[in-house]
Amino acid sequence: MKIVLATSNSGKIKEFSRYFDTNITPYSDIIAPFEIIEDGDTFAANALIKARAVQNKVGDEYIVLADDSGISLPLLGGKPGIYSARYARVGASDRENLNKLVETLKQKDTTKTPAYYTAAIALVFKNIEYVTHGWMHGSVVDTPKGEGGFGYDPMFIPHGHKETLGELPQEVKKTISHRFQALKLMLPLIKMLQRENP
Ligand code: IMP
Repeated sequence: MKIVLATSNSGKIKEFSRYFDTNITPYSDIIAPFEIIEDGDTFAANALIKARAVQNKVGDEYIVLADDSGISLPLLGGKPGIYSARYARVGASDRENLNKLVETLKQKDTTKTPAYYTAAIALVFKNIEYVTHGWMHGSVVDTPKGEGGFGYDPMFIPHGHKETLGELPQEVKKTISHRFQALKLMLPLIKMLQRENP
């Protein structure tokens, strides 16, 4: 049973491939990419919207996984949160979003403040729908460093570390990331479905 990932975000695809020992295929390798309107008001709702949309097109021969994730700052009342991918503007690049967050910190005269990443992972297969969550806590700083990871990683310092996720080896992120925590909770279901649907 093949696992399909309902995303075209190259950062997420790279991380999912690192976490899995089995093959995981971006949906755009199977069908032409299409626009999915993510109008849910939670990470879980948006992850399900993406997984259902892709499952509708690829059908029952695939286990479809989708990730909806983002960064939240208590200083900003939880923003950007579910709007992390479009914080600077709709269609913004990762760099534009990061620059906007750096600018926001500077406007608030803040060099470092608590932040956390959330990931919701949705699995859709036949009539089964399941969502897991994971979190990674730390701080954001107004001086991004390093080129590793993606998105807001160059300004995020995880708890227990002194360097940003842009500087730390990807092996470190792999063990502590919100995405990995959520995926760990999903793995027993994936393994069971693969056993039952060889
Ligand atoms: P989504 O594709 O709608 O789930 O948007 C996720 C957005 O949240 C990304 O575009 C990044 O800006 C941010 N994000 C989520 N996870 C991470 C991460 O692990 N590192 C850095 N940024 C992330």
